[in-house]
Order: sequence, then C-alpha cells, then structure tokens
Amino acid sequence: MRAARLHNYNEQLRIDEVDIPRPKGEEVTVRVGAAGVCHSDIHFMSGQWKDTLPVKLPLTVGHETAGYVEEVGESVRGLAKGDVVAVFGGWGCGVCQACKGGDEQLCISPNWPGLSQCDGGYAEYLHVPTYRFLVRANGMDPEYLAPLTDAGLTPYRAIKKVRHLLNPNSFTLVFGVGGLGSYAIQYLKLTSSTRVVSVVRSKDKARLAKDMGSDYVINSSEEDLLSSIREITENQGIDVVLDIVSSRETLAAGISSLGKGGTVVLVGLMGDSFNLPVMSSVINEHHVLGSLWGNYNELSEVISLARARRLKTPISRFRLDEVGKALSSLEQGTIVGRAVLVP
Ligand SMILES: [Zn+2]
Ligand SMILES: [Zn+2]
Repeated sequence: MRAARLHNYNEQLRIDEVDIPRPKGEEVTVRVGAAGVCHSDIHFMSGQWKDTLPVKLPLTVGHETAGYVEEVGESVRGLAKGDVVAVFGGWGCGVCQACKGGDEQLCISPNWPGLSQCDGGYAEYLHVPTYRFLVRANGMDPEYLAPLTDAGLTPYRAIKKVRHLLNPNSFTLVFGVGGLGSYAIQYLKLTSSTRVVSVVRSKDKARLAKDMGSDYVINSSEEDLLSSIREITENQGIDVVLDIVSSRETLAAGISSLGKGGTVVLVGLMGDSFNLPVMSSVINEHHVLGSLWGNYNELSEVISLARARRLKTPISRFRLDEVGKALSSLEQGTIVGRAVLVP
C-alpha cells in the first residue's frame, strides 16, 4: 500500500510502498476513506515536538482518520468488514487514572497515531491497536467524518468546559476560523445563546465565519481589534476567548479583550509562552485554562450532531500524492474549511 511518511524532520513527506498491516487479537485494519490535514502535522514534521514526543522515523503522519473496516483480529466484537468507522486518536494505555476516567487523550503515556510511535492515517490502510478506539458510523461519508475526529472534536470539548459561562448577555471571541474555528462557531450557536465574535485576517475567512453563524466578524488586517471589541461589547469586554491559534499575539490580544471574570481557553499550539499581567488578572478575576483534543464519548456526541445534519463541514479534497500541496496551503492559510486526503 502507499503511505506518506516522514523520513527526516523539516523534509517533505515521501510516498512509500509498505506492507498492509494484518490485525490480530483486538486489532483492526481500517481502509482509509479520508485523512484530515492538521496544523499539528506541520508542527510535528518541523521537529518542534521531537523532545516532548520522541519518535523513530520514518513514520506515517495523520491523526484524523475515518474509513472502512477491512479486517479484524479474532477478539474484535461488534464490527464487520465494510463498517464505516471514525478513528478516535487518543490511544491511551487504558489503565492510568486519566484513561480510567474516560479521558484517554490525557493518558500519562499517550500513543497518538501519526504523532508518536504509531503510524497514522496518511495511507491507504491504518492499523488500529484495538476496536475500542473506533466509533461505528454506518451511512456516513468518511470525508465528513475524518475532520470530526480532531477539528470537530477539539473545540467541542473546549466549549463544554465553559458552557456555564455562556448566556444571552455574554460575548465569546473565536481566534482562528479554519478547520477547528468553523466547528467552534457552530457549537457555540447550537449549544448556547452567547454572541459570537470571530477574528479573521482575510475576506474568505470572514465569509466563512458568517456562514457558520458568527454574529460579528472582525478582520484584524483591516481594523483595530481591541477598539472593535470595545465597540461591539459596549465596553463590557469578552466573557470567553476560544484561542484556536494561541500565538503570542492572539493570547496577548485575548487577555486584553477580557471583561470582568473573563476566561481564556487555550486550544491552539502556535506560540510557546505569553505574559499574563498580574494586576489586571487579579482585579478582574480572569481565568486561563487549556483544553486538549476530546475523549471517546465526546467524539461520539459530535458524530451524533453530524448524523442529525446539524453541522456544516466545509471540505477541501486532495489526493494522497498531493499531500505536500495540502500542507503548504494549510500553512499559508488558504484552505477554507478542512483539508482531507482521499487515498
Ligand atoms: Zn490535529
Ligand atoms: Zn492511560
């Protein structure tokens, strides 16, 4: 089979011919229907994470996968060849406290396909270590399912953490209207009555934010962000910032935009650190928290929303051999919605 593999950090992926994985025990081989292309892949390929997530190369990239069950090991239950499945990517050990609590993406010794020592979904087939990491979704299209496993899942969990703060008087600021941001705006409108303010840097993204249901859109390449926020909120400030970028600049602007009791949720991984002003954090009782990916049950909730046709998923399709083009378009910010590889 063909697989897009990283041989050295800071190099293009190579399309290699490798063996199709054969499952035994609880394992499953999934024929990849679609694999989402994520900013985390770019961070990983650049070697930025090689100390925190050390891996032996070559490795097949891709942690956002959906497809069809091809073959199952002898202990697999409830799945048959041809079933449509979404692959939950937080491959936890199953026995640590985080895993036992249901948050396998927070496992103390995580194994994430395409990011740690397991091959990912940029290939024709994916080896999944246990059927417990698959959500059955017969009748759904893998091209729409794949992005749900990360781009759709990550903002869902982040919003669940702050849902108690969202009411008709509140304002929620979304930084970054790409794959994750498109879902974030939709969840905010589906699950709360908050007013959504999206921050974009191009006309295409402004249109996308409006299409997804954003109440206000600020194009920060054309207008001053903080004065626009003051105007929109009538000086009340923002109640919740969902920072899907988390660069030094967006975090500084997010903190400055907060009103009394405001919360910043860090979701993106662009920056390395930021300054938190002590005085205003204390006198305004600000909160800062991180949110990582999502758990199995949250993925299944997201898939239920999609199945009920309550989610729009804008997709840009690429062939497996166009993976370099997909990654560079993502890096340049020219993908509208989520890029998926269709092998
Ligand atoms: Zn990702
Ligand atoms: Zn664990």
